[in-house]
Amino acid sequence: MSTLNFDERRDLADIGQAIHRLIADLYPICRSITGNGVRETLAKIKSVIPLEVHEVPSGTRVFDWTVPKEWNITDAYIKNDQGERIVDFRRSNLHVVSYSVPVKANMRLKELKEHVFTLPDHPKWIPYRTSYYKESWGFCLSHDQSLELGDGEYEVCIDSSLQDGHLTYGEYYLKGEQPDEVLLSCHVCHPSLCNDNLSGVALVAFLAKHLSQLPLRYSYRFLFIPGTIGSLTWLSQNEAHVSRIKHGLVLAGVGDPGRSTYKRSRRGDAEIDRAVIHVLRYAEGDHEIQDFSPYGYDERQFCSPGFNLPVGSFMRTPHGRYPEYHTSADDLGFVQPQYLADSFGKCLSVLNLLENNKTYLNQNPKGEPQLGKRGLYREIGGSKDVKLSELAMLWVLNLSDGNHTLLDVADRSGLDFGLIKDASDMLLESGLLREQLG
Ligand SMILES: [Zn+2]
Repeated sequence: MSTLNFDERRDLADIGQAIHRLIADLYPICRSITGNGVRETLAKIKSVIPLEVHEVPSGTRVFDWTVPKEWNITDAYIKNDQGERIVDFRRSNLHVVSYSVPVKANMRLKELKEHVFTLPDHPKWIPYRTSYYKESWGFCLSHDQSLELGDGEYEVCIDSSLQDGHLTYGEYYLKGEQPDEVLLSCHVCHPSLCNDNLSGVALVAFLAKHLSQLPLRYSYRFLFIPGTIGSLTWLSQNEAHVSRIKHGLVLAGVGDPGRSTYKRSRRGDAEIDRAVIHVLRYAEGDHEIQDFSPYGYDERQFCSPGFNLPVGSFMRTPHGRYPEYHTSADDLGFVQPQYLADSFGKCLSVLNLLENNKTYLNQNPKGEPQLGKRGLYREIGGSKDVKLSELAMLWVLNLSDGNHTLLDVADRSGLDFGLIKDASDMLLESGLLREQLG
């Protein structure tokens, strides 16, 4: 797999803009773990890649869980005694607690307040709340607005439905040379929130589009699923095939200004873990590596002990560690094209590494082969780059005994994977190296 010149900053800047435009397009839609918001979202992603949409009926058992009733909403408001909509779902879908049951009632402030959620520490922001597994209803307001509510009577309306229907998810499969798969997964269940997780959704869509134009060694599977119940549903319906997944990433929160963060898979030292850590070590800027913990996004399900898949989680600032998380401040200004582009470039480098992480055999293992007579050694002492490339060749030759991948060589030598890969290409061309198959 070549990266199609994506090292070039101009191309990356363009892709950052395109990812941000898709986020802006998806932003107004009211998504939840089921319902028409997810369908509308998947329909828009279809303008980027040919997605297959699956519908799983409510009531379907998925391991210890059950696919819930489908939730849809058309309108919601709180009117004051003048008949004015002082809280309006049409202005922000965060105003309604996701999965609120329908309600139409008049009530005094005291009763209404039992159903109102605010963020006193950030009085201008609207919080994001859900009530998926307990039937209730509620409104989310800025704290400032809640303080303005007078003592009068209010008309409260949530025009929603909670009925047997379906859980909807999207899947895109790209066939490579091998049936072995790389899984890239993101959650599509949050309403108007950008970093968590329209950034992940749009990034995965554009990674898929980019990979679809390349010759691939691995096959790739892209999942656009509601968090938790979506990954449980997918795993439960594809249990027979999950052993094909050799590497995987859950992508969420990839557009904020924070540094890149990688959370290891439960295995801890799977090839995906080593690949991401290698790429981050050689990339520009600071990064953070976290050990696995059974808390977070859908890696919780992919890494449950019954599956233990090699799936890590790639993000920028971890969820819950930025104040905008799960509030109206996680908006279109919080995610920026340059950070989306940076995340895209790093993910592509990781996939490029996996595609090229092969094992080779030195064809002249007794003593060092004479590189000079093959034109592989610069005769006159050259620049630092030339010296590094010669050093890389010596490392590749020395460790190509059939037991080391190119990533092993890169890590052991302390050299960048790209340098090791270039060295192995030159040695292959000269006949000093042969790929070890199988
Ligand atoms: Zn979230």
